[in-house]
Amino acid sequence: MDDGHIPYYHPAWIEIDLKQFKINLSIIKKNVPDSLLCLPVKANAYGHGLVAMAKTAVNGGVDYLAVSCLQEGILLREEEITLPILVMGAIHEDQIPSLLKYNLDFSISSHLKATMVSKVCSIQKKSCRVHIEVDTGMQRTGMRPHTALALLKELSHNPWINVVGIYSHMATADQPNHAIANQQISIFNQVVDEARLFMHHIIAHLANSGGVVHYPSSYFDMIRPGILALGYYHHATSSFADIKPFLSLKAKVSYFKVVPKDSGISYGHNYKTNRDSRIITVPVGYGDGYRRSLSNMALVLIHGKLYPVVGNICMDQCMVDIGDDAVFVGDEVSLIGDHPHISLNDIAKLCHTIPYEILCNLSMRLPRVYLS
Ligand SMILES: *Cc1c(COP(=O)(O)O)cnc(C)c1O
Repeated sequence: MDDGHIPYYHPAWIEIDLKQFKINLSIIKKNVPDSLLCLPVKANAYGHGLVAMAKTAVNGGVDYLAVSCLQEGILLREEEITLPILVMGAIHEDQIPSLLKYNLDFSISSHLKATMVSKVCSIQKKSCRVHIEVDTGMQRTGMRPHTALALLKELSHNPWINVVGIYSHMATADQPNHAIANQQISIFNQVVDEARLFMHHIIAHLANSGGVVHYPSSYFDMIRPGILALGYYHHATSSFADIKPFLSLKAKVSYFKVVPKDSGISYGHNYKTNRDSRIITVPVGYGDGYRRSLSNMALVLIHGKLYPVVGNICMDQCMVDIGDDAVFVGDEVSLIGDHPHISLNDIAKLCHTIPYEILCNLSMRLPRVYLS
């Protein structure tokens, strides 16, 4: 599986070890045996490649997929993925016919949207599957609990709209024992109890990765861990300790030169060599998602040894000082991977952001190479 790219013909690439991904999924399933597993694959599966990750998830026993938008749902259906797919983001009126056509589950978070959907369904004589989104404290999308329950009651008589789920999203679940998280769980619990009085088979779901790791009371009928399945959940407790990341960003050295002492390197010359130096060029830049704020900060790994990125990172290239060592054009460089100082967490910290943001910004031009 290579998502349509030709592996290795581009001198920089992302390597993804699907075996570890499957191990991660099985650890999650083992720890949460009584809930369905929904895998969020939004934003190109957090940069890992939407279709390959979804197909592997299907084989790995995932029950449900979640995407952020219609477009991602269509891509999956066009690859003949038949699992239920929930579009989590707010839907717009002009998307309703396509949501129906591709048999996507979608969120309803207002009375108005429900009316729009019902209208299109009745014209097309097609029913649909929806999840009612309740806002229990995130203040992003979702209906307040009492409004959600009123709508649920109303929809229980609607011949077109089949309510298959009710869900909410946690704002602080990455922190154990957080008051807001506990409050959201308790509010959701009440809503679900009341909903069950007239909708017995509804799938209730709340937990993101933080919920799965820290709040067993947030499991309900289905869990939605994204970053945990990818191995980047940071504060994993012992039962999830064997979950590991499986993505690396690699490239082949594209150029080598020796520069004299006091040479400025790259745009702005804000790095100067303090001795005669061997400088190599790596064909990865901020256009690939290797952020410019890593300039003069990040390290890369070559032949098991760490070297500094020197000078400003360019759009498509960056430079590395290899001291007196021997590195040749074509040698492999790891920029992100499972090694101290180049782990995604380390890279994200240097950029003052979270691993999620670095992953999502890994450019489409980097081929994804899947190891299985
Ligand atoms: C992104 C998202 C998730 C997954 O979040 P992680 O922190 O990656 O586990 C779950 N539910 C919703 C609604 C989301 O938007």
